Amino acid sequence: MRFETKAIHAGRQVDPVTGAVTTPIHLSTTYERSADGSYTDGFMYSRGDNPNRRSLEECLTALEQGHDCVTFSSGMAAISAIMEVLPEDKPRRIILPDDMYFGVLTLLEETDLGKSFDITAVDMKNLDQLSQAVESKATGIVWIETPSNPQIKVTDIAEVVKIAEKAGAVTVVDNTTATPVLQNPLLLGADFSLHSVTKYIGGHSDLLLGAVVAKEDSPMLNRLRTWQHAKGAVPSSFDCWLALRGVQSLSARMSVHCSNAKVIAEFLSQHEKVEAVHYPGLPSHPGHSIAAEQMRDFGGLMSFQVKGNDSDALQIANTVKIFTQATSLGGTHSYIEHRASVEQELTKAPANLLRLSIGLENVKDLIEDLNQALSEI
Ligand code: PLP
Repeated sequence: MRFETKAIHAGRQVDPVTGAVTTPIHLSTTYERSADGSYTDGFMYSRGDNPNRRSLEECLTALEQGHDCVTFSSGMAAISAIMEVLPEDKPRRIILPDDMYFGVLTLLEETDLGKSFDITAVDMKNLDQLSQAVESKATGIVWIETPSNPQIKVTDIAEVVKIAEKAGAVTVVDNTTATPVLQNPLLLGADFSLHSVTKYIGGHSDLLLGAVVAKEDSPMLNRLRTWQHAKGAVPSSFDCWLALRGVQSLSARMSVHCSNAKVIAEFLSQHEKVEAVHYPGLPSHPGHSIAAEQMRDFGGLMSFQVKGNDSDALQIANTVKIFTQATSLGGTHSYIEHRASVEQELTKAPANLLRLSIGLENVKDLIEDLNQALSEI
């Protein structure tokens, strides 16, 4: 089956009891035990497993072409889980990209889990710098986020995996911004592909969910499964159902996100009030050729720097009428956000940078909206 077909059929079947084509939402927390003590349908208690979660995990495994998937109550719960289950024989050192989702930095800087790790940030574009960092000290995890959020940097997954593998480190790719439609990290050698399903996979800004898809069976995967039900940061059946509904249109939505984003990136790159546009679909982007090779299209996320300071950038975010000034990405609505003021002291985002999550509106309306806001500064 090809991607679009798997997105609709993998993990799902017509309900054998009612004939319902859409998977029912199973709200029961507990399942009947047979006289011989077994659970005939394989479900015992919904924190351990339930039909909606199982369907979603099977579907995401198929879309990432992995071995298995473990879901969590949010992207951040998935991220903390994968860090926590690093086997004891691996050094607790993590190498991070110098631009990445800010919540991971907060986790690492402000929680006991984070404090148990030795952290080094590198420019992943610079493979020599990465090799030196990996060779200078034993490393447990090499973390990749590509395209990164919010500066939209591109990392060569296959090359980074080679360096990490030589050092015996596990590679985790946060594939949230690319989605499995555009990029399959496991096929490029990564050990785990991670998603904030909250974003493009859910697709409608109405659920919180995280997922880790593993390339192969491993003690780390088994620990992840145990962590899921033992620690209990599991997604609700309803959120799994919403994610399964969303994923059916993922491929169709991504093609509009990508085509709208391309037109907007071109418009912004020619605008006199814009200093720089960060979008891997532009040939001028430093990661363009790598993105063209490892991705099927360039995504719906971009950022741009205005000619001006933080108050000019904030004024644009306050003046747009169709874009919503809001955090998050990957929904049907277009969002604009001044990351530096959201991230505050820990931010690495330039003060004049605005991040855009391009939605599914008519692109002409989006351009007119940005144009009128830019003309005000
Ligand atoms: N990874 C990326 C790239 C993100 O942008 C986010 C959230 O913005 C997360 C992970 C965390 O996901 P969640 O908000 O579902 O916890």
